[in-house]
Amino acid sequence: MTRDPLDILHETFGFRSFRGVQDQVVGRVLDGRNTLAVMPTGAGKSLCYQLPSLALDGTCLVVSPLIALMHDQLRAAEAVGIRAATLTSVDENREETIARFRAGELDLLYVAPERASNESFRNLLRQSKLALFAIDEAHCVSEWGHDFRPDYRLLRPLLDSFPEVPRLALTATADAHTQADILDQLGIPRDGLIVAGFDRPNIRYAITPRENTNAQVAEFIAAQQGPGIVYAQTRAGVEKLAERLGGAGRPVLPYHAGLDPAVRRRNQAAFVASEDMVIVATVAFGMGIDKPDVRFVVHAGLPKSIEGYYQETGRAGRDGDPAVAQLFWGADDFARARQRIGEVEAARQPGERARLTALGALVETAGCRRRILLRHFGEDAPETCGNCDNCLSPPSAIDASVTAQKFLSA
Ligand code: ADP
Ligand code: MG
Repeated sequence: MTRDPLDILHETFGFRSFRGVQDQVVGRVLDGRNTLAVMPTGAGKSLCYQLPSLALDGTCLVVSPLIALMHDQLRAAEAVGIRAATLTSVDENREETIARFRAGELDLLYVAPERASNESFRNLLRQSKLALFAIDEAHCVSEWGHDFRPDYRLLRPLLDSFPEVPRLALTATADAHTQADILDQLGIPRDGLIVAGFDRPNIRYAITPRENTNAQVAEFIAAQQGPGIVYAQTRAGVEKLAERLGGAGRPVLPYHAGLDPAVRRRNQAAFVASEDMVIVATVAFGMGIDKPDVRFVVHAGLPKSIEGYYQETGRAGRDGDPAVAQLFWGADDFARARQRIGEVEAARQPGERARLTALGALVETAGCRRRILLRHFGEDAPETCGNCDNCLSPPSAIDASVTAQKFLSA
């Protein structure tokens, strides 16, 4: 090791202290022990490999599933003076990157998982000095995860051919079952699992069966203050809801993949700058946006999974002030989800079904929502949180059975 980790934290990153489990994760990595870190979005996963990449001799190879994500990360790393590069099919300066890598002039090198099976790339790795493998979005390696990428399965042989190089897998969204699978798939021991706290105590969770979704969303929003996000399931749903909510006295903009990229960028920038705007969006919205004062997130329909729900609602209240996550759902959401599952590849159906069942348990419970969420991520939680709809006003036995019937008849 060439530099003290705390000095690097202060001098390079400008942070006063580690946050949450960061010091634990960084400590293990610097000890050369294989690790899986499960930390919520925004918890600071990047630092867990960026810092070791500066403390250790050699390059940290970062596996990341999306080129756009890599380029964001690259910019952020370079901004604090880390010597970093990407090696992808779209890069024009590949020769230069390879030369820098060979010469030991890179702290971080970002690659896509499919490169792992490329023989000339493996040769390149053998000719260079590797300090660490960082596998970002590691849930992609698991068929139980919500975003399985077959390319991630190519990583294990590569990792195993460099047994002396430690591995750090990172993910925000893996339930207990997926966590165990990632450990197996990537050859990380059970005691290498570090799960950060998932609780977001300032977010109030509320889940309501729907009658007329758009009217319920409008009524909910009329009672809220500050900026918020409304997630609709389809582009058409976004358009309709945005129209309905417009003219209610505060700015409303749509966001979905069908809009012109320039319009999308403009709407996103307007939202980030606004103190009272409602953005109506598909789930494509929110990845990587930095707006700490989002006061509410509404789901106008069932999300895809508990992981998705947690991630999307997690965009509310990052400043720590009170925020609300309101979900409206109907029995037809479950019917449609079941139909969709029937159409996916047979091998993936059990995982998808388990995910839907878990979501069903969250929406139909008469008990604490937070407890179900936290336990889903393998965290213990008290019986009641005092800050979800069911804890704040326990449903009567009649309400509860009506809800249960809606779910069961779906
Ligand atoms: P993740 O990948 O877990 O979603 P990031 O690595 O993108 O999170 O980090 C989220 C934000 O937290 C970044 O703006 C980062 O600079 C900041 N951050 C990370 N570690 C710390 C720390 N120890 N103290 C303060 N801010 C931090
Ligand atoms: Mg990240």
